[in-house]
Amino acid sequence: MFSDFVEGTLVARDKSALEQHLAACIQCRTDLESFRRAVGSLGKLKQAAPPRFLPDIQQQIYKRSHGRFFGRRWKLFGRIPFEWVSLATIIAMLIYYIAMLHGTPVGVRGP
Ligand SMILES: [Zn+2]
Repeated sequence: MFSDFVEGTLVARDKSALEQHLAACIQCRTDLESFRRAVGSLGKLKQAAPPRFLPDIQQQIYKRSHGRFFGRRWKLFGRIPFEWVSLATIIAMLIYYIAMLHGTPVGVRGP
């Protein structure tokens, strides 16, 4: 109920029940305080990230991983949608499977 309680959208009956419980329960008062703190700090994040935010992070990861991640190879690979690669692989395997089912066995000789 904390979310509705903090936002003031809790119905009166629930609100007074919660307030009564909070008056008696230190554990829930502590929980409510940490909930308020979390919501408060999240609220400050509402502004958009600066435009260099993502490239800078990728640059950092690139440097710290000694080029293992977010290198040029990664950028090139990122242009091919992964779903298309998966779909193409599945179709290729299906075609292979059907060809194997209907094709004449190779390398098997009759008596
Ligand atoms: Zn409680």
